[in-house]
Amino acid sequence: MPEAPKILSDSADCIDGIVVENNNKVLKFIEDVTADADEVQRRVLSQILSRSANVEYLQRYGLNGCTDRETFKKVIPVVRYEDLKPDIERIANGDTSPILCSQPISEFLTSSGTSAGERKLMPTIEEELGRRSLLYSLLMPVMSQFLPGLDKGKGMYFLFVKSEAKTPGGLVARPVLTSYYKSSHFKNRPNDPYTNYTSPKETILCLDSYQSMYSQLLCGLFQNEDVVRVGAVFASGFIRAIQFLEKHWSLLCKDIRTGTIDSKITDPSVREAVMKILKPNPKLADFVEAECSKGSWKGIITRLWPETKYIDVIVTGTMSQYIPALDYYSNALPLVCTMYASSECYFGINLNPLCSPSEVSYTLIPNMAYFEFLPVTRKDELTGSISGPTALNDKEKQQLVDLVHVKLGQDYELVVTTYAGLYRYRVGDILRVSGFKNKAPQFNFICRKNVALSIDSDKTDEVELQNAVKTAANQLLQYEASLVEYTSYADTSAIPGHYVLFWELSVKDSTLIAPSVFEDCCFTVEESLNSVYRQGRVCDKSIGPLEIRVVENGTFDMLMDFALSQGSSINQYKTPRCVKYAPIIELLSSRVISSYFSPKCPRWTAGHKQWCTQN
Ligand code: AMP
Repeated sequence: MPEAPKILSDSADCIDGIVVENNNKVLKFIEDVTADADEVQRRVLSQILSRSANVEYLQRYGLNGCTDRETFKKVIPVVRYEDLKPDIERIANGDTSPILCSQPISEFLTSSGTSAGERKLMPTIEEELGRRSLLYSLLMPVMSQFLPGLDKGKGMYFLFVKSEAKTPGGLVARPVLTSYYKSSHFKNRPNDPYTNYTSPKETILCLDSYQSMYSQLLCGLFQNEDVVRVGAVFASGFIRAIQFLEKHWSLLCKDIRTGTIDSKITDPSVREAVMKILKPNPKLADFVEAECSKGSWKGIITRLWPETKYIDVIVTGTMSQYIPALDYYSNALPLVCTMYASSECYFGINLNPLCSPSEVSYTLIPNMAYFEFLPVTRKDELTGSISGPTALNDKEKQQLVDLVHVKLGQDYELVVTTYAGLYRYRVGDILRVSGFKNKAPQFNFICRKNVALSIDSDKTDEVELQNAVKTAANQLLQYEASLVEYTSYADTSAIPGHYVLFWELSVKDSTLIAPSVFEDCCFTVEESLNSVYRQGRVCDKSIGPLEIRVVENGTFDMLMDFALSQGSSINQYKTPRCVKYAPIIELLSSRVISSYFSPKCPRWTAGHKQWCTQN
């Protein structure tokens, strides 16, 4: 198997020659693994299965220590999270026997995908951190082919940790990035010009989101002339940082002017780390103040950080809704999507990072996991969402193809087998083959299956929405009113974005219903939504209050007429529970009689409902 490139060593003096040599090694590694993709995949599967020959899960299905693809595909089922839940719960409750993986489960990664309203728990093992680091180490050498000189400046990245919980069995459960930032792979990363960030690690590791954001912005502003690239993980996070700056720039300027840090920043390690960077700089404070107090924030990124060459954020998938805002704030700097990853596994990278967001494709790196692909065809044009079969029949199972056998232009659902104990696991993402790098396919990210609404990392499906709306609408019955039809959309025209529900009612006397009744309905919907949504509302403040817009009677008939005029079949027409198509949103908006917002945040605590938390 092509060996992973060595990242620059600690002692490296970061001289140009070493950087170039390392970049070449990385690019050669990518060439090799993509050229030999099928053989790498065969070896990955064989390695996973031989290591895990003794695990209960594989024995249960009678794999009997076989490590070949044919037997594996014949006997091991293609599964979803719900199928693994009993095994995962045993691990969470303290069973340390080799249930899914022969190596000890080091922690659970809490996915933004949910099951029964709670984050999914993905088991992981210590060595996966190395695999994640490997994928990160590929990004900048690829980027440097297109933009030289990135090793000469700093990256201003807004990175955050989230709270963690402990399972009843004592394993930590936390998001994958929190796990990575807290690991020695990140904290004690070797001296590398490409991971030279403006944010000291203490500011990233601070759990208080206000203190973390404030101190990262302060350090970023103070080092503004060194910054050559800016970013966050997802587009929504980066925009949140800019909006934070809009609110707090005068306080930040005060700190830059005086070389002190505001008293609201109380975390001693953050204060100490920031104070190592900060010195009084009245000239810079004047400059930032002058830029921020101009009426318009158009191009604020290039104005404040003039050497910035690109914004590194994911804008594929639901994040594409933030592209106009990013273009506005940056005067259309390139938006670069570097990688595609999840709690289950890190998948791949973008080998053409300066392409336009609509053309981004990810090359899956064949030694991250064993990949299979389930062909998908069904697509609901009105909602843009794809809902595939839940359990697979034998014929569907036989349709799964290997990495090198996918067909150009075809859509697939991604299925992974990982070193950490997931076997033929359906990730839930729909990908379209857009080309090949040597033998390895490249994919456009199309969507996450079954997601109706998403603002940030929340993913609300139609069933959850339906249940939440039903619970809330029951409150209308006592006023002799009922819900006739509804649909929804994710409104990101203002930041933070929020969920909007269009409700058509049957009501005897609308004057009998006070606004507070609808506000309670908004709140009830929010209380009924999953934990990732509620965390976004309460903790991250990345989602605004949910809104109900009551529409005139007959609106949903008009919606049906519109759909039929666009070619929908009258026999098959069903009201879409989520809409994205602008003319439909315009139609609905033109019929709004009144609108109401949730008056308060729903409840949220870290960890699954039944666990105690340990922040
Ligand atoms: P999580 O497990 O919470 O980290 O979420 C992982 C999911 O985020 C993936 O399965 C995708 O649905 C989505 N995701 C990750 N990277 C990308 C990307 N580059 N473009 C679009 N969606 C992404």
